[in-house]
Amino acid sequence: MLSKLKQPIRVRIAPSPTGFLHIGTARTALFNWLFAKKYGGAFVLRIEDTDLERSDSKYETDIIESLKWLGLEWDEGPLDADQRGLNADSRGKFTGEFGPYRQSERLEIYEKYIKKLLDEKLAYYCYCDKEELEAERQALLAQGFPPKYSGKCRSTSSRQVRLASKHQGKPQVIRFIVPEIKLTFKDLIRGDISFDTGLIGDIAIAKDLHTPLYNFAVVIDDFEMKISHVIRGEDHIANTPKQILIQKALGFSQPEYAHLPLILDPDRSKMSKRYSATSINEYKKEGYLSEALINFMVLLGWHPQDDKEIMSREELIEKFDLGRTQKAGAVFNVAKLEWINGQYIKSLTDEQLFERLEDFGVDTKNLPERQFLKIIALIKERMKTLSEFNSLADFFFKLPDYSPRLLIWKNASQEKILKNLEMVLALVPDKQKITALAEKEGRGEVLWPLRVALSGKEFSPGPLEIMDALGEKETIQRIAAAIQKLKS
Ligand code: GLU
Repeated sequence: MLSKLKQPIRVRIAPSPTGFLHIGTARTALFNWLFAKKYGGAFVLRIEDTDLERSDSKYETDIIESLKWLGLEWDEGPLDADQRGLNADSRGKFTGEFGPYRQSERLEIYEKYIKKLLDEKLAYYCYCDKEELEAERQALLAQGFPPKYSGKCRSTSSRQVRLASKHQGKPQVIRFIVPEIKLTFKDLIRGDISFDTGLIGDIAIAKDLHTPLYNFAVVIDDFEMKISHVIRGEDHIANTPKQILIQKALGFSQPEYAHLPLILDPDRSKMSKRYSATSINEYKKEGYLSEALINFMVLLGWHPQDDKEIMSREELIEKFDLGRTQKAGAVFNVAKLEWINGQYIKSLTDEQLFERLEDFGVDTKNLPERQFLKIIALIKERMKTLSEFNSLADFFFKLPDYSPRLLIWKNASQEKILKNLEMVLALVPDKQKITALAEKEGRGEVLWPLRVALSGKEFSPGPLEIMDALGEKETIQRIAAAIQKLKS
């Protein structure tokens, strides 16, 4: 794993701001972050925003905010974040002063290297336009060949012809000459992976000197940022040989590679919005705790030797071993996420959960805090997400309308239930006496109507606990209202 021990461990997450932070990117960020923490290395955030048409600053903001919310802080970056207002953190947790690196702010660096490749005749201007390329592609496909660029503009003579052609010498892209070799690289998760680079064809590395494309910019940045390990999704495996060839052409050292398994939907297709939300902010909005998401995400492709499922961040750092990552796709199981979230909610103290609910936007001001804490204690066990608080606890704040029939326990008569409720009303708030009455008159006949009177619901916590949380006055009012319902 650490064959480059002499070299400092430096890893990165390199999202493109073309969408909200995706669960797959967040999982990749987590694996990189854990790897950096485990070996005392650095974790770098690089926003790959060279595709101006598809990039949007709202996505960049979301990526940054979501990473912070998850507690996946990056260790360095340009000191310009304050100016951009990107450092504010509502929970005050992230203390980093750094903005992310942005490729759009590094164009001069790429230009230098593009020029170098052009000067050394390792890259060339290509004048072919989209239509020509498409026709070429179709012709190859029709003959049963894999499509690749013919290399037409490689030779100077053809370029001269082009200078006089329909684009009046306006180059369309800059291409890198892809040598035809058998290339093998070692993947830390998958072992040796080989490619016949003769199938690739000369790749576009930039639209012009100021507009580098992904496979090129990524190589320059990984080198300039001294990235020791490139840990990213399996979908990038096919890019790796292209990147290695560019590294070789520029005389760069090669980082180690590890490609993480894809995240799959239950039908084993690539994760899509069809089954579950794909962006981190949606899980935040649904009331998942960031630590539960972290715990869930680490299990998407990795598990510790002891198969323990609930692990703190410290435990994760201690146990994490990139080499134990599975090769096969990891199925995203929402039920498991809910279960893990429920475990984390249960493990919070009532006071901590109160704070989380407040942060989440639950109105905690309409009852005294002491009473609110009692409600929390009553429903905590059943809460899977913070957003469930409202539906589980709504009746404490406002008695729902319910049918008088709900007050009747099994085959008991209405008169008996009415009598029992009247007796209970006279005993409030003495829980012992109410319990004694229930023992005497029948638990179902006393406690069921009392519970319904207090909750208005078919299912809820027990009546004596609800009484406690409601307080004496509200308890009396609700029982009186139930009696009224039975009488009318
Ligand atoms: N910008 C690329 C992406 O979002 C980064 C891939 C890489 O890590 O090299 O997929």
